[in-house]
Amino acid sequence: MTQIKVDALITNQFLAADLREIRQMQEESKRKPPKTEIVWRNVFLFAALHIGALIGLYQLVLQAKWATVGWVFLLHTLGSMGVTGGAHRLWAHRSYKARFPMRVFLMLINSIAFQNDIIEWARDHRCHHKWTDTDADPHSTNRGMFFAHMGWLLVKKHEQLKVQGAKLDLSDLYADRVLMFQRRNYLPLVGIFCFALPTFIPVYFWGESALIAFYTAALFRYTFTLHATWCINSVSHWIGWQPYDHQASSVDNLWTSVAAVGEGGHNYHHTFPQDYRTSEHAEFLNWTRVLIDVGATLGLVYDRKTTAEEVIERQCKKFGCAEERAKMLQKLG
Ligand SMILES: [Zn+2]
Ligand SMILES: [Zn+2]
Repeated sequence: MTQIKVDALITNQFLAADLREIRQMQEESKRKPPKTEIVWRNVFLFAALHIGALIGLYQLVLQAKWATVGWVFLLHTLGSMGVTGGAHRLWAHRSYKARFPMRVFLMLINSIAFQNDIIEWARDHRCHHKWTDTDADPHSTNRGMFFAHMGWLLVKKHEQLKVQGAKLDLSDLYADRVLMFQRRNYLPLVGIFCFALPTFIPVYFWGESALIAFYTAALFRYTFTLHATWCINSVSHWIGWQPYDHQASSVDNLWTSVAAVGEGGHNYHHTFPQDYRTSEHAEFLNWTRVLIDVGATLGLVYDRKTTAEEVIERQCKKFGCAEERAKMLQKLG
């Protein structure tokens, strides 16, 4: 029963953008341009975080032990996968299904990244897909690349986002006890997984200085993961190639794929949002896909959705460029 409801939700709701509705909303926005109301508390917090991150970067390059450098890399990879494999591909898009232990694992590594709880993240992301580049898109590129990157977190949310967002059915998210657990315990979870454990482990296991561990593995790594994720909203809607849909603002980009562990195939992803791979390119550029596939091998993941070759070909012919697709597949595998 629940399953049928979830499947209907995917088909009917947040993945299908209605172009006419989007055009209307964009016209409306031109008539009444959005006001920018700065939230100074957030500006102050992000400024402080970035100063801490710069100190962390200096220490990472010149002072940290090699084990700490590896630890920073591991935490970035795990935290990013909690966002890409968990909040994004599993919960926002329902592009595959995961059993309880896998959902717990994804929720815990998602807490390393501290990007709001998964229910809130998935709601914002469903708005982004359904009303891309309108005032109901939390990080609309129509308000500039800085806004799309991080500016949207420094200002008050647009009224349209609240009005349209309230129309989304989020019942599947509220019905997941793993997500409700994360929501109820969010601050202790990010306190432990984003800050305390990243600092404690290098100090305890390889004798790193507590200050270096805190600035590198907590503050710098947290900030770096944030920017890698934000690049999907800015760079991946800006610089790259568009084999699947020339009308969209989303592009495929190699470097955002590398930084965000496989999430840079954004033109593909906006065109086929239910595909768990989010890109056609090889696994070495898509570590999140590898994680999901390993989960499937272990029996923790099932029902991975992909897109049929003829559907992709038809789409490229009609709205994209088949030659560009062939060229990029040859180049990147
Ligand atoms: Zn998405
Ligand atoms: Zn996007």
